[in-house]
Amino acid sequence: MTTPLFNRMALIGVGLIGSSIARAAREQGVVRSIVATARSGATRARVAELGIADRVVDTNAAAVEGADLVILCIPVGQCGPVAEEIASRLAPGAIISDVGSVKASVVKDVAPHLPAGVHFVPAHPVAGTENSGPDAGFAELFINRWCILTPPDGTDPGATDKLATFWSALGANVETMSPEHHDLVLAITSHLPHLIAYTIVGTADELGRVTRSEVLKFSAGGFRDFTRIAASDPTMWRDVFLANRDAVLEMLGTFSEDLAKLTRAIRRGDGDTLFELFTRTRAIRRGIVSIGQDSDTPDFGRPHEKLPPLPRPYMADGE
Ligand code: NAP
Repeated sequence: MTTPLFNRMALIGVGLIGSSIARAAREQGVVRSIVATARSGATRARVAELGIADRVVDTNAAAVEGADLVILCIPVGQCGPVAEEIASRLAPGAIISDVGSVKASVVKDVAPHLPAGVHFVPAHPVAGTENSGPDAGFAELFINRWCILTPPDGTDPGATDKLATFWSALGANVETMSPEHHDLVLAITSHLPHLIAYTIVGTADELGRVTRSEVLKFSAGGFRDFTRIAASDPTMWRDVFLANRDAVLEMLGTFSEDLAKLTRAIRRGDGDTLFELFTRTRAIRRGIVSIGQDSDTPDFGRPHEKLPPLPRPYMADGE
């Protein structure tokens, strides 16, 4: 891109998502300069050391001075207080956005603090890993992932379009929807799976009759795939469940009913019910692969070692 879309981008929070945005935006030349800040001195020092921002400043208010794009890359529970902190320092005409995994609560917490003349366009890049912090980010994180924009009613369409262009430049596919619809969709596609993973891993950990070492040793039976999700950042996910309480409870209600049906099928030896469900779910996995949202390599592409050569005494006679 020859002319940057934004002159100065301020990133508040430079963890997995913030540092990935910094890396990708710089690589694509979509911003002329990047100013960054984080809560702790340790993270700010690490960001400076990594050189992923042009300037690292000590306060959120200082970061937004003169920025025409401000992105809050912090846990959703922090968005309201931080918006209050930076509101009076936002430049007229600036676009302020976020990357929070919940949208209605962020809109409710942030919008009341913003002065007239700035454009609030909330966003959620549906991309991530289980790692946190500035070292965890990488420029390719958003490629072919969705970024959902949830502009509140009355938002300037020009600002929404500009932010959509920004996310497209970072490789994302952009879709726009209402914050409430976003929260319902993400409750089933992301929040509930995390809750289930946290539960299974927690339950296995607490099971007295299976020792911990056996749980770890035999984890390739399926358990380890849950542990990846259950290793996600505790602060971020605590905030997600508190902020999206209603939608998660609604989905949890449906899930509990379905679990009760499966429990009944197993108790009654009703193999048809189990088979029918497992056939449907297999098709869903294939659908996700076919639309490019995951790779088709088996077992998530984990490498398999070669068979070892047999020791001499096991060889057949004459070998
Ligand atoms: P992260 O790696 O833990 O980074 C969070 C960053 O926010 C850190 O730099 C932290 O600074 C900073 N921070 C926290 N409170 C702050 C405050 N009051 N003022 C200034 N900086 C503050 O988290 P992340 O994974 O990037 O997640 C950030 C946001 O992205 C969350 O809202 C999350 O819902 C959303 N999101 C995450 C994923 C994912 O997979 N992780 C995916 C999509 C969206 P310190 O290091 O100094 O504490």
